[in-house]
Amino acid sequence: MNLHPILLPKIDNKRPLIIAGPCSAETEKQVIITAQKLSNKGIKIFRAGTWKPRTKPGGFEGIGINGLIWLQKIQKEIGMYVATEVATHTHVIEAAKHNMDILWIGARTTANPFAVQEIANALKVIKFKGPILIKNPVNPDLELWIGAIERIYNAGIRKIGVIHRGFSSYDKKLYRNLPQWHIPIELKRRIPNLPLIADPSHIGGKRELIAPISQQAMDLNYDGLIIESHYDPDKAWSDKEQQITPDSLSYIINLLVIRDTKQTTESLTELRQQVDEIDTELLSILAKRMRISKEIGQYKKEHNMPVLQTNRYDEILEKRSEQAKEIGIEFNFLKRIFEAIHEESIRQQIEILNKTDDSLKN
Ligand code: PEP
Ligand code: MN
Repeated sequence: MNLHPILLPKIDNKRPLIIAGPCSAETEKQVIITAQKLSNKGIKIFRAGTWKPRTKPGGFEGIGINGLIWLQKIQKEIGMYVATEVATHTHVIEAAKHNMDILWIGARTTANPFAVQEIANALKVIKFKGPILIKNPVNPDLELWIGAIERIYNAGIRKIGVIHRGFSSYDKKLYRNLPQWHIPIELKRRIPNLPLIADPSHIGGKRELIAPISQQAMDLNYDGLIIESHYDPDKAWSDKEQQITPDSLSYIINLLVIRDTKQTTESLTELRQQVDEIDTELLSILAKRMRISKEIGQYKKEHNMPVLQTNRYDEILEKRSEQAKEIGIEFNFLKRIFEAIHEESIRQQIEILNKTDDSLKN
């Protein structure tokens, strides 16, 4: 792909490209105050969603076209570049009418090739030249992400960037959306001149995770960050747990360590990244196992069965040692792990047994 590096302004040459602004445009006052505060901190690109694709009906689904009028005001009066999300043909036409500088395609839309094609066709009609930023699809499917990039590219747009906002998962987790860093890294390997922007707000889903995720993105040599910021985050109409004030945003950006990429051993960073991800996976698998052990404990209690059943423990160890041999894991090492897991399962089951029925209800 013959892509142009996106020509977006940075705060300065040392730091990454920053796009900041609220999850949703809510009121004129909210966007103007937030934009003014961000601009005072040197931020040049303002984001706000005016059509909000929500997982379930009944939530705030965006203020619509009025939001674009307010964004235009920010563009004219505060002098910032403005960016918003488009998901349909009409959104593209309205965004063009209101002279939006940058458009992005949301994660739920990227997952749908019909919707992306509709957007691509509309962009072609209005002769939009970009930049357009394509978020990763909600599901961890690199080909689907690349497919969306190709559809936009085929509409004649060369200023394309991608936003890594993490991937949905079913189980309870630390992150709102699992980062799965290896997916955008692989994307960058396949399309090297594609600007890569991290969205720590939607990956983490919590204010306290913005700084570490942003730093991680910088260590992986990302080109920029898109961060949700609201002048009064606790009162935000959507995604309030992850929005930060312009002051906090500025504080976080100033603390980012931008390493000299020539000095870092990139392959080591990538390997460490994989270790982090696998450890996170191990943790969630362990949590799942403990949950099932507890269910077994409850069953044993209800059926008056003893907690410790040594024949079952022997059977587990025997089976696992055979499996360990097959995949080349040292038996003593494996035994130590399973002893620890088993010990903890028994402890939890005994705890269940000792609980009175009343305390179980609480
Ligand atoms: C957003 O940027 O506010 C948004 C809706 O994000 P995503 O598409 O990543 O869920
Ligand atoms: Mn949001």
